[in-house]
Amino acid sequence: MDKPAILGGIPVRDKEHRIFYGHQSVTEEDIEAVAESIRTEYLTGGPGIGRTEKRLCEITDAKYAVLCANGTAALHLACLAIGIKEGDEVIVSSITFAASANCVLYCGGTPVFADIRPDTYNIDVEDVRRKITDRTKAIVAVDFTGQAVQLDELKEICKEHNLYLIEDAAHSIGTKYKGRPVGSIADITTFSFHPVKTVTAGEGGACMTNDPELYKKLHLLVTHGITKNPDEMERTAEGPWYMEQIMLGFNYRITEFQAALLMSQLNKLEAFSKRRKEIRKAYDEAFKDEECLFIQESIPESDTTQHLYVIRLNPEKLSCTRREFFDALTAEGTCPQVHYIPVYRHPYYEHLGYKKGLCPNAEYYYENSMSIPFYAAMTDEDVADTIKAIKKLCAYYRK
Ligand SMILES: *Cc1c(COP(=O)(O)O)cnc(C)c1O
Repeated sequence: MDKPAILGGIPVRDKEHRIFYGHQSVTEEDIEAVAESIRTEYLTGGPGIGRTEKRLCEITDAKYAVLCANGTAALHLACLAIGIKEGDEVIVSSITFAASANCVLYCGGTPVFADIRPDTYNIDVEDVRRKITDRTKAIVAVDFTGQAVQLDELKEICKEHNLYLIEDAAHSIGTKYKGRPVGSIADITTFSFHPVKTVTAGEGGACMTNDPELYKKLHLLVTHGITKNPDEMERTAEGPWYMEQIMLGFNYRITEFQAALLMSQLNKLEAFSKRRKEIRKAYDEAFKDEECLFIQESIPESDTTQHLYVIRLNPEKLSCTRREFFDALTAEGTCPQVHYIPVYRHPYYEHLGYKKGLCPNAEYYYENSMSIPFYAAMTDEDVADTIKAIKKLCAYYRK
């Protein structure tokens, strides 16, 4: 039996060839697109942003897109647009990046955490139902790892209780739910274009909606709530210089060259999606009979462009802890990460009064899981080595 590198054995990948859980795929073509954008008159506020927004609408079948500075800004804009304020409750997935809940706090609202399902790790629709009160105004549901949440069920709940559905689709651009692209289904869908996500703008985000009223608010809020459009003004324009602030917005604009990078990346979304599906298949195949770990259940309604690949250790079959397995896998040169600490377990949330035990499935998931290297630019060798490293550790630590 091969000795794990952490105990002095030979690592699957040496230090120079380590791979990490995520990485961007940027080519000369992307660099050229950015350079070309910078050579134009507009570094920000030019026509490229609108072109990229249009492309996002084509890809997702959404009517409207508002590009912004990052995925967190997109979530904040979404909460502002639906009018979240003090006293409002918003039900949020517990296993997600903190931004999915922070956006509610930014608006003075109260995040209410719903547990995850133990099989898909997406928000548990039954727990959402249990957490609705007469203060509930919205749900922020996260397509965790790229798999679409149960959108029909959530929309049904929203209809029954008059709530908004915000879909945090930071992981799921390119995913389809029952044949429809993510972006065209929830009241507002938000994307992130951070480098670890499926397509990148360096930093960037977007809000997608089909609702003209929400769109009107989103596109104002992204740039101070100031308009130069006479149709939106309360008064008559006093001259060519005139503009009006009609809402309290932010400067959450994206730059032209970020939008250009995103446009170039969106042209490759299909290829990225295909590669991500191939890698998921290879991992699923490799791990499905491995009793030391569990793989994420796939959701039949979701034609998934996978963003992360999570393995959940089976403590009954392994003699090591999650920490030991994590460190051992890192030592093999196929470096994992953990997504995520349940949001309410962060000290900041604890100080707000959220307590351990709130979402038992989320806490159990967190204690046993890690994300293994997963990105479109992985070679077949990278995939094979990651599998090899995990199998080596399973064999060594099997009870
Ligand atoms: C990345 C991410 C965000 C935040 O996006 P940024 O662009 O980094 O601000 C929000 N929610 C989820 C689920 C994410 O993964």
